[in-house]
Order: sequence, then C-alpha cells, then structure tokens
Amino acid sequence: MTTVDLSNIRLPAALRRRVKYIRSVDQIPNIPPEEREKLRKVTEKYVLRANDYYLKLIDWNDPNDPIRQLIIPRVEELSDWGILDASNEASVTVAPGVQHKYQHTVLLLCNEVCGAYCRYCFRKRLFMDENDEVTNDVSEGLRHIASDPEVTNVLLTGGDPLLMSTRRLRDIIEELRGIPHVRIIRIGSKMPAFDPFRILGDPELLKLFRTHSTPRKRIYLMAHFDHPRELTDEAVAAIDALIRSGVICVNQCPLIKGINDDPAVLAELYRELSFIGCPPYYLFQCRPTAGNEPYAVPLVRGWEIFREAMRQGSGLARRPRYVMSHELGKVEIVGIEDGHLLLRFHRSKDPEFRGVLMAYKLNDKAYWLDELEPVEGTEARKYPPSPWLGVHDSPC
Ligand code: SF4
Repeated sequence: MTTVDLSNIRLPAALRRRVKYIRSVDQIPNIPPEEREKLRKVTEKYVLRANDYYLKLIDWNDPNDPIRQLIIPRVEELSDWGILDASNEASVTVAPGVQHKYQHTVLLLCNEVCGAYCRYCFRKRLFMDENDEVTNDVSEGLRHIASDPEVTNVLLTGGDPLLMSTRRLRDIIEELRGIPHVRIIRIGSKMPAFDPFRILGDPELLKLFRTHSTPRKRIYLMAHFDHPRELTDEAVAAIDALIRSGVICVNQCPLIKGINDDPAVLAELYRELSFIGCPPYYLFQCRPTAGNEPYAVPLVRGWEIFREAMRQGSGLARRPRYVMSHELGKVEIVGIEDGHLLLRFHRSKDPEFRGVLMAYKLNDKAYWLDELEPVEGTEARKYPPSPWLGVHDSPC
C-alpha cells in the first residue's frame, strides 16, 4: 500500500475534474467484443453504470481484478437465485421512500442513482425502470420524523445521496436540523470511492457540512470502501476534506467473493481505513438478492475470513461487527463452537429479542439465517420463519 502524502494532492486540478459516466458495456473497449455481447444480456436485467475515474482503477491484465469484479457484470448474475428485496424492506416502509425499522432510526431513500453500480447491490431493484420506491418529495418522511420524538438518527440513503445536487441536499439537511430531536444525520455514500471529485470539487457541499455538523449534532458519513485499492490519494483527500468539515467518517461494506473475501485484503482495508480516520463499522453478509449468486460467501466461510482479519491490526482496525441485515434485525455472527454457529441479535425489530444469543447447527452451505436449523431448546426456535423462506426456494 502506498503512503498517502496529502501535500501531493493538487486541489485546483481536482476541482476541474468531472467524471464521465457510461451505461453500456460497448463503452468499455477493454472488454473483448464477444464478451460484451454476452454481458449486454446481463445489463438488460441489471443495469450497468460506471465512470472513467473508477474504470481506470481496474487492472485489465488480471481477469480476477477485484475492482473489475465490483463494477463489470458477470453472466452468472442471471442464475435463478435470491429475490429482489431480500431483507423485506417493503415491510418497514411507512411512506414512499421512508423506512422505519428500529425505534431511533429512520431511513430516507432520497435518490435512486449511484456514482456507479456495485454488481452485488442489495437495492438494485431501485435502478429498475418500474420501481418507484424512491421519492423526490421527502416531505412525508420529514413529517413522520418530526412526529416521533424517539427518532434521533436519520440516514439519507438510496442510491447515493451525494449524487444529488448540493442545493437539494441542503434543503433536506436544513429541514432535518429544524427538528430538535434529530441529533445524528447519516449519509450513506460510496462517492468517496466512486467519484471523490464530487466532494473535492464542491466547496458549497463542505460548507454545508461545516454548518450542520455541530458539536452536539453530528453528520456522519457511512462510507463504503470494499477494497484497499479504492483508497487512492483522491479518495483519501475526500475523506480528509469531510473530516475537516466536521463530518465523522466510518466505513461499512459487504463481504464479497472475489473482492474482499481474503483475510489479508480485509485486514489491509481495515488497517488503512483506521489510519485515515474512517474506521470500520459493519461488515455485511452479502444478501441473497437476485443477481448476487456469484458474489456471495457462505456464512461459515465468511466467519473464518472475518475472524482471521480480526487477528490483525490495532484495536481501531478491529471494530467492525459481521452482521446479516435480516428482515428481523441485524443478526451478528459471533462465532463457531461445538459444531454450532452462534448468532446474536445486535439490533432487533422486536424488542423482546434484543441482544439474544442463538445457536444453529453448522451448515457450511448456508448463506442466510433462513437456511439455518436451530439447535433444539435454544432461543432461536422462538423466531418465526421469514417469508423469504416460505415463498422462495433456498438459494443453495
Ligand atoms: S453504492 Fe450502495 S446503493 Fe449504490 S450500487 Fe453500490 S451498494 Fe448499491
């Protein structure tokens, strides 16, 4: 990993940089024409979006290049596996674009576009033509938040909120700052990885954050770096600019086959993130979302990778929790003992189950909670099976 010297970042040049977006495999000459032909069919189902900055990070001589895996479609995505809304987000949607699952946190899905599209995205349904989950008008969401004094956290998500205009972002943030009980505004964004110039080139955006990230009411950036190679000088400069504008930065990313399913890669990512002031927060189990089969890692293997990565680095590089964002809550994978996979409800929709530890029979082919069989006499038996299991075939 190269040492980042911020004095080498010439911001005036960065300010002039505008990424060029592409939406077709035919705009990527590095992919041979016969392969493009096959991939076109994939993108008819799961759209492609990339940009010239991010594409330049790919080593085209390496067919297994992790950045390539992240952004370039694969024919295996067309396998019959998973469902579009694997965490049943529809069940916690209280108004268009408004999700309220946990007492203190509301999600506003305020944009349906990203700086590029991760092939493994769990919300790829938002990018489909017929989907209307995201609304441009967040007034109903704001009314919902204002009416519930328990809501202290609001997560702006999508899609990527930093792809909205600064003017629109300002309108939403100012409205939220007008609601006294909202203390934390989180912005879920992969723009520092996909297009750091969005942040570096917009002084108005940084001024907005400086104004509204205050000592008692912070703005958090929930960054999404998946691989150490995404931490370019420009990306690190973008995180630095955010920190200097009063934003608290943390990282959350999924465990993805071919990208970061290697303990050494994951440990390096976490180490570097801790150095730049963006420590790891969650490692997500890849959801059984349609199109995600080539990217998913089974739970047992995932635990082994995570455990090995957690043996490296300082305490700040070892802070993440490895969780499944299940429709019942955030289920943490905490260990393997006596042939059992141990899970714990880190967050639970149902208050009765918060913090409860559960034991399941070891199944090294399982990708998701619904495929696990509870051990007789444990708390796990209390949980109702998710509709995901009843309605659809198991993905393995
Ligand atoms: S940045 Fe997030 S929402 Fe956007 S494509 Fe990637 S995973 Fe999906």
